[in-house]
Amino acid sequence: MRVYNFAAGPSTLPLKVLEKAQSEFLDFAGTGMSVCEISHRDKAYEAVVKSAEALVRELLNVPDDYAVIFVQGGASTQFAAIPLNLMQTGVADYIVTGNFAKKAWQEGQIYGTANKIGDSSDKTYTYIPDVDKLAYTDGADYVHITSNNTIFGSRYSKFPKCKAPLVADMSSEIFSREVNVSDFGVIYAGAQKNLAPAGVTIVIAKRSLIENPLKICPTMLKWKVQDENGSLYNTPPAFAIYMANLVLENLKELGGVKAMQQQNEYKAALLYDFIDNSKLYKNNVVPEFRSIMNVPFVTGSEELDAKFVAEAKKAGLVSLKGHRIVGGMRASIYNAMPVEGVKALIEFMKKFEKENG
Ligand SMILES: *Cc1c(COP(=O)(O)O)cnc(C)c1O
Repeated sequence: MRVYNFAAGPSTLPLKVLEKAQSEFLDFAGTGMSVCEISHRDKAYEAVVKSAEALVRELLNVPDDYAVIFVQGGASTQFAAIPLNLMQTGVADYIVTGNFAKKAWQEGQIYGTANKIGDSSDKTYTYIPDVDKLAYTDGADYVHITSNNTIFGSRYSKFPKCKAPLVADMSSEIFSREVNVSDFGVIYAGAQKNLAPAGVTIVIAKRSLIENPLKICPTMLKWKVQDENGSLYNTPPAFAIYMANLVLENLKELGGVKAMQQQNEYKAALLYDFIDNSKLYKNNVVPEFRSIMNVPFVTGSEELDAKFVAEAKKAGLVSLKGHRIVGGMRASIYNAMPVEGVKALIEFMKKFEKENG
C-alpha cells in the first residue's frame, strides 16, 4: 500500500510520474533498453535533457540570457560552485536564515570574504531578517539567500532588492511558487525535494555573470562549461534528469507553477489553521515567514512527539519526525503531496489530540 510520505527529502513524487516511469522502464522510447542503460549521447536520451531544459524555461519563464543546466553533487556542491563561478572582487554577502544557509556561508569563506549581513539564529531561525534594513556590502559580487528553510520551515515573503546579483538556494521550493527569474542572478536547487530523485541539481544562471570563474574552479563546477555542453559535458545523472522531465511534464499538465502555488497555499493554510486553533500543537515560525513546503510543529512534550510519529506511521502517514536539530514533527507538503494527504494528516492530528490532549 502506498503511504502519504511527508519526508523532507528525498521526498514523495507524483504517483502518475512513478507509474509512467514504471511502464516504460524496460523499453525506453522504443530503444529496447531502460533509460539507465542507454548512452547519454543517444538521440533518444539527448531529447530528454533538451525537453527538461525547455520545460524549466517555460514553467519558470526563464529569460533567454540565462543558462539552465543540470549538474551533480547536490545543492551542497553548489555552495562551493557559487564563489568559484561568481567571485570577481572576492567579496560576497550571505544572509543566514537556517542550517543550509549557514553551510553555504561557511563554504563561501573558503574562497573569499563571505560577509554575514543577516542572521536569524537568535530566535532559532523562526523569522527572516528585514531585507530592506540589511547593510549590503558595496561592490559585493553577490548576495546569497536560502529562499525556503527546509529544516526550520520559514521562507522569504519578499526578496532582497540589492545591487549585487541575488543568488538563491531554492532546493526545497523550486516550482512551488511563482518567482521572477530576472530578479535573480542565480537560482539553484537540489532536485530531491520538489522535483526528482536525488542525483541532479538545477542551476539557472545569468550568462553574463558566469564568464569568468576563478582560476582554481574545477572544470566540472564551471557553469559556463556545463552550459556550453548542454549539461552533457560528461555522463549526466541520466535517470534523475529523466524523472525530472516527467515531473515537469506533469506540472505543465496540472497548470504550471501558478496552479501549483494555489494548491500549495491551500494545503499549507489548512494545516496552519488547524495547528493555530489546536491546544496541543504549536508552530513557532512568525506567520509572515511560514513556509508552504515544510511545516514543523511540536506538542511541547518530547515523549508525546515520539508517540505521535510512531502512531502516525501506523496510520500510513510516514516520515513526520522533525529534523534532529529542532525535534518535534515536520510535515513536508511538496508539490507532489495531494490535498487528501494533508487532510488525512489533519484528521489524524485531531484524533491524536482527542486521545492525548
Ligand atoms: C536539502 C537541502 C540542501 C542540501 O542538498 P544536498 O542535495 O543534500 O546537497 C541545501 N539547501 C536546502 C535549502 C536544502 O533543503
